[in-house]
Amino acid sequence: MRKILTALILFLSTLSAEINVAVTYPYLKEIVQKIGKDRVKVTVLGSAKYDPHFVLPKPSLIGRLSRADMLVINGGGLEAGWLPPLLKRASNPKIAPGSLGFVDVSRAIDMMDKEEATRAKGDVHPEGNPHFSLDPHNIVPIAKLIEERLMELDPANSESYEKNLKAFTKEWRDFLERFDEKMASCEGKKVVTYHKLYDYFLKRYKIESVGTIEPIPGISPSSKYLIELLNKMKKEGVRLILQDTYHEKRSAKFLATRSGAKVVVLPHDIGAVKEADSLEKLFENYAERLCR
Ligand SMILES: [Zn+2]
Repeated sequence: MRKILTALILFLSTLSAEINVAVTYPYLKEIVQKIGKDRVKVTVLGSAKYDPHFVLPKPSLIGRLSRADMLVINGGGLEAGWLPPLLKRASNPKIAPGSLGFVDVSRAIDMMDKEEATRAKGDVHPEGNPHFSLDPHNIVPIAKLIEERLMELDPANSESYEKNLKAFTKEWRDFLERFDEKMASCEGKKVVTYHKLYDYFLKRYKIESVGTIEPIPGISPSSKYLIELLNKMKKEGVRLILQDTYHEKRSAKFLATRSGAKVVVLPHDIGAVKEADSLEKLFENYAERLCR
């Protein structure tokens, strides 16, 4: 009898309502959906049209946080400029930092620039570089962390989360095999970037970052600084300037006209440019725009 009852409880709990997951950025939505499938309902707080450091904290986001059973953040300080006041207003114990429903995926990654972090006024990377999701090799460890937490939150469906992670890992590793091959032709290129946004990607594919338009992450350049950067670009023979979709473009144009380098706009997340409508497409976009 007891066995039947346990089985019945287990069966009923698999039929229970889906888990409401709030995520801070679009790339996290795709990963949560790949692992949670029909068990999760995912809402994205920060659209890719914003600088990820400064998402517009609309009041409607508070309601979405109040209804969430789980919150998945990038972490590493990326949300420090906009999420904490919203979380406080939502006052939802299920997703409070430290609770089971709060998932910080930076925990799965060894972050770059931790030692270099200056804590200078206006530096938006005081904990190191939080843009690790732009190395496609970091996607599987992030998915694994999300799977582990979903299993803890919803043990009745552990088996399906495990199965979904396995399928996703295989799918992503197959993609990486093709992608890494494509990127090999880009090795050794020299670039300048606006923000320290692509450093994980550049390091992975042995592309050299000669400098950044921002003197410190989050700080706009002075004319004097831009002239120094221009001279460095000429000396090093930099042919590409990597620009994101949300910063001013005048500085990149100034450098391009005077150095002969080309400005390449790269999306920082799914949806930042129209063609980048999935994680795979986001990275394929990088290969197309950087290696042609
Ligand atoms: Zn940044």
